[in-house]
Amino acid sequence: MSFLLTCPNCGVREVTDFGFGGELSPRPTGTPSKRELNAYNYFRRNVAGVQREWWYHRSGCRDWFIAERDTRTNEVLKTEAVK
Ligand SMILES: [Zn+2]
Repeated sequence: MSFLLTCPNCGVREVTDFGFGGELSPRPTGTPSKRELNAYNYFRRNVAGVQREWWYHRSGCRDWFIAERDTRTNEVLKTEAVK
């Protein structure tokens, strides 16, 4: 399935221009336990709905950014540059 993504630097492009970096997971704070580190490294929520994800513009500016995408329809709701 093809869809469009808007790179914050380059504009709208086909998804084949990009690399998927996985869903955004908050890092554990403080001194995490082994269980917390394990969950951070290996467990994903894999939601059926809107999730925040990392994307990489490999055929363009080669920059990472964050997108909100509905995993059921591949509709990209918004993209934003990483500060
Ligand atoms: Zn770009």
